[in-house]
Amino acid sequence: SKPIVAIVGRPNVGKSTLFNKLAGERISIVDDKPGVTRDRIYAQSEWLNNKFTIIDTGGIEPERDDIIVKQMRRQAQIAIETCDVIMFVVDGKEGLTAADYEVAQMLRKSKKPVVLVVNKIDKVMDEDNKYEFYNLGLGEPNAISASQALGLGDMLDQVIAHF
Ligand code: GDP
Ligand code: MG
Repeated sequence: SKPIVAIVGRPNVGKSTLFNKLAGERISIVDDKPGVTRDRIYAQSEWLNNKFTIIDTGGIEPERDDIIVKQMRRQAQIAIETCDVIMFVVDGKEGLTAADYEVAQMLRKSKKPVVLVVNKIDKVMDEDNKYEFYNLGLGEPNAISASQALGLGDMLDQVIAHF
């Protein structure tokens, strides 16, 4: 059956925006408030004749009164248990956060293939923002702009290399 690719990351880093771009149709709602999206979480995608299923883990319902870090831990755990490749999305405008480090540690321990995605790099001059994310120990950061659909091809090359 088709490989399953999970999109993991903090609220507001652009997971749903990326999901919608990869799904190629507008099937989930982007909400500005963290943790309140009621998105469809599964879609089919394809790159260079490789078909795969994508999951937006941010659309998985949080438990009541879940703090963000706990919510992220659970979403990462689901991704680790059920997916073939994990796209870990971080915010290239905001920079590294403690929650990013915590999720990165879980992902490294899992030994699952991870593609590190630095989103919100809307301009070429912002591309240097990606270098600090080497500190996560997850290999080469892929700079993209989900909203501008920039860098998605190189990123998807990395994803399908793990199939
Ligand atoms: P999620 O919570 O991780 O699913 O993030 P969303 O996809 O809902 O996006 C959160 C906010 O970031 C929204 O206001 C988006 O428009 C914005 N956003 C998403 N991708 C980009 C991007 O590539 N560049 C910029 N500048 N903003 C983005
Ligand atoms: Mg979302």
